Amino acid sequence: MPSKFSNKRHVAFKKQSGLCYYCGSPMWESKPKEFANKHKITRKYAARFQCTAEHLLARCDGGKDQKSNIAAACLFCNSTRHQRKSPPAPLKYKTHIQKRLKKGKWHPKKLRHLVSPMISKPALIVSIEG
Ligand SMILES: [Zn+2]
Repeated sequence: MPSKFSNKRHVAFKKQSGLCYYCGSPMWESKPKEFANKHKITRKYAARFQCTAEHLLARCDGGKDQKSNIAAACLFCNSTRHQRKSPPAPLKYKTHIQKRLKKGKWHPKKLRHLVSPMISKPALIVSIEG
């Protein structure tokens, strides 16, 4: 369903070169099969890398649906954050994920080839201010 919101997600996706705001893995927007083939992973694994829009400042905290408040995150990172009782702040959560990634404890071993470039390049910082 095309909407203004998904357009913002798309803008964030482009701005981040298609990489997850949190874990830095590549994501897909509409073609999971191509994604799976390209990265030689199963469709099931590909599912977790669907691009989702993340509010850097939650709506309940006054965050708005504006471009500067939207980051693109993979489904896995996004849903894991929201599974918590009180979701951590995005930057805090990102630091947590980066630590886990370095220990190889975020995505399964089989997916490490997708995410590893981020570890040597932790400079991928997306400005919250936009
Ligand atoms: Zn992610």
